[in-house]
Amino acid sequence: MTTTLLTNTKIFNHQQELVYSNIGIIDGKIAFIGKEPPQGFVADEVLDGRSFAALPGYIDLHTHGALGHEMIGIDADGLQAISQFYASHGVTGFLATPWTAPREDIRKAIEVTQEVMGHEKGARILGIHLEGPFLNVAVCGAQDKSMIRTASRDEAMEYLDSGLVKLIALAPEFPENQWLIEECAKRNITVAAGHTNATYVEIKQAVGLGVRQVTHCFNAMRPLNHREPGVVGAAFDLEKIKCELITDNIHINPVVMRILYKIKGPEGVILITDSISATGMPDGNYTFEGMPVTVKDGAVRLADGTLAGSTLTMDRAFVNFIQATGAPIAEVLPCTSYNAAQNIGLGDRKGKLAEGYDAALILVDQNLHVKLTMVEGSVVYKEF
Ligand SMILES: [Zn+2]
Repeated sequence: MTTTLLTNTKIFNHQQELVYSNIGIIDGKIAFIGKEPPQGFVADEVLDGRSFAALPGYIDLHTHGALGHEMIGIDADGLQAISQFYASHGVTGFLATPWTAPREDIRKAIEVTQEVMGHEKGARILGIHLEGPFLNVAVCGAQDKSMIRTASRDEAMEYLDSGLVKLIALAPEFPENQWLIEECAKRNITVAAGHTNATYVEIKQAVGLGVRQVTHCFNAMRPLNHREPGVVGAAFDLEKIKCELITDNIHINPVVMRILYKIKGPEGVILITDSISATGMPDGNYTFEGMPVTVKDGAVRLADGTLAGSTLTMDRAFVNFIQATGAPIAEVLPCTSYNAAQNIGLGDRKGKLAEGYDAALILVDQNLHVKLTMVEGSVVYKEF
C-alpha cells in the first residue's frame, strides 16, 4: 500500500470558494479530502501543496500530437514525449487521436498506443479516438480527401476489436456508416458526429442510433441556418449531445464560445485541443499529413489558408474559455475534465476530486499556471 498526503492545498467548495484542504491518497486513489487527515492515517510521503489550488487533471479527448510527433507515423518514444508534454500542461488523461489515413497506418497507430499504454511517463492514455476515416469529403477540413471512405465492416471491426477505441468521429448522413453507430453503442464506444454535412433531421436520427457528441462544434460541419438548423442547430437543441470545442480563439470567436456555453451549460461542453505536431514548437513551417503547413501566431494553416488543427494546450484552452464566458472557474471546470470522462464512460473514476476517484490532479497558481501534475498518485510534473 502506498499512501501520500497532499497538504496545504486549496479546493473549491460548493460556494466556489477556495478552502484549505488536505488530500489523502491511497494506492493512486483519493481516500479523503478534508481539513485534517482521519485518525490513524499514516503517509509514506507528505507533499506540501504550497497554497496552490488543486483541480482535477485536464482530459483531452481530441489531440493528434505535439513536439513534432503525430499519431499517424508515431513510435513509442514519440508517444511518450507527447504524454510528458501534455502532463506539463495539466493533462492527466487523453485519447490518442489518429486522423484519416490508410488502414495500415491507423493499425500501426493503434499498435503503438497499445505498447505505450500502462507505461506512460506523463499523462495517461485513456484510449484511442478515431477521427476518420469515415467522414464527409464536403467538410473534410484539412483531412486527406482521397482517404475518406465509408465504413466497411471488415475495416471498422478491426479497429473496434483492438479494445482501445473509446471515441469515433464519423459522418452519420451516410447509410453505410449507420451500422457502425449501433455497433459502437452496443460496445459502449462513444460516437461523435464530425466532419459531417448532415441535416438537423439526420443528426436527430443519428442520436436515436447512439451519437452522443459532436466533433469540434462549429468547425467542419453544416452550420446553423434559420431554415435548416444543420449539425450546429442539432447540437444546440438536443440535450444528449455534448459539444467538443477548440477554444484557441482562432477556430472559434470567443463570443460564439459564450453563446454555446449559454445554450449547453457547464455540462454540455468538452474543451479539446485538436493539437497537431507543431504544438510546443516555435512558429515556422511544418508538415501535416505530408502536406506543408505554416504556423504563425499559433495558427496552423495549409497553403490555401484552411486551418489544420491547432497548437493549443489544455491549460490555455481553459483560460481562454473562462475569459470568453466570464463564468467562475469552478463552474467551468467540468468542461476540462468531468464531461470528457463521463462521455467516454469513465465518469465514475475520473474527472473529479472526490473520494474513490483516481488521484489524477493538478496544482495551479492564481493565473491557472500548472505547478504540479499527479497521475494516479504519482507526481509526473513539478515546477517547485
Ligand atoms: Zn482533429
